[in-house]
Amino acid sequence: MQLPLACRSALLVFALGAGGVVAQSDPHRDGVAAIQAKQYEKAIRLLEHAHSLKPSRVDTQRQLAVALSHRGSQLHNARMFEESLHCFQRADRMWPGQLNLVMSVGVLHLELKQLVDAKRRFEAVLELEPGNARALGNLARIAAEQDDVVKAAELYERARKRDSSGRYEQHAQKYARHAEVESEFKSLRHGMFEIQYPTGREYGVEKALPVIRSWLNQALRDLRRDLGRMPQKPVKIVLYAKGQYQHVSSAKHWAKAYFDGKVRLDLGDWEQKRDTLKDNLRHELAHAFLESFYPNLPSWLHEGYAQLVEGRSLDVARTLFRRGRLSALDIETFVDKFADSNDERIVGAGYAQSLLVVAHLRDARTPREFARLLGKISKGMESGKAVREVYRLDFSTVFQAAVPSR
Ligand SMILES: [Zn+2]
Repeated sequence: MQLPLACRSALLVFALGAGGVVAQSDPHRDGVAAIQAKQYEKAIRLLEHAHSLKPSRVDTQRQLAVALSHRGSQLHNARMFEESLHCFQRADRMWPGQLNLVMSVGVLHLELKQLVDAKRRFEAVLELEPGNARALGNLARIAAEQDDVVKAAELYERARKRDSSGRYEQHAQKYARHAEVESEFKSLRHGMFEIQYPTGREYGVEKALPVIRSWLNQALRDLRRDLGRMPQKPVKIVLYAKGQYQHVSSAKHWAKAYFDGKVRLDLGDWEQKRDTLKDNLRHELAHAFLESFYPNLPSWLHEGYAQLVEGRSLDVARTLFRRGRLSALDIETFVDKFADSNDERIVGAGYAQSLLVVAHLRDARTPREFARLLGKISKGMESGKAVREVYRLDFSTVFQAAVPSR
């Protein structure tokens, strides 16, 4: 058993004292030394001890705040948000009124989607430093999450003006466009979905609503069967009339739909292209559901599963590989980066391959085991290891079995 550090240093003093040499243990000094040695947990223990001996000593409080904020950053980097928040909150109490501590507490609340608390902190930052760009940017993000696009646009614009690095440039532009198009959108609740759409006869969107609703019901049944649960918050779906979608979507979104926290769908000439619209809706809904349960899945799992839900044909994908129209990616390229590639052949093969691999994984086991696999990968376990642990299969064998060769 290891004694807590504070106890051990006390014993040391006692032992040495008995021999005639007195080593004065000074937990404050040792704590500061531990900070310098980047041993933050040790520093926290020592400084807490020092603080309990002399609660009114201000430099001990401040050093403890420093150690806690370093530890908080480490935990934040490790994505342990609750633990990190706890550290920063304690640091903030030890050294009140420090802008970076108030900001960090706000950022952690934001990571944990505690929007009300986050907002209060960023407003406190603005009181300490009016016009602080980062606080403005974070408040803009909160406004966007709360569907106030006009406010988000206004706050991003203020952040952009105050920040010379250009980090708010794109957001300011994006939300300015969203505000132009969506400020008059109406919102409608349909079960666990929230549909946002333009009113006004000229858009003709109301006619599409019953069709969209029935597709949503159907997709919900399928997704629930596969994934075994429902998102806790409503899934938001934004419908754009002809011309509106082009205005809000960036050039990268060549597809007629995308998911960026909301499912965004171009109705365009939907009556002529019903099937495409339905496929797009199902594809993006799959992304939305996965994202709400498993926030850190790699793109091959996202895209593979989304295509499966969309109803893409496995046979067509297999034929493309069999006839040599697509050549299969090696496992590293597949796992790491196909979706970010600029090479069309890599992207094409990656999509087809991800469809086949994910179909294989989904159908090889029960939904519960599939869910466990997704859970492990989302928590950061390497894909091969997760497949081995949950399925007792070798990932490269799955990979080869799923994708036919020529
Ligand atoms: Zn997709």
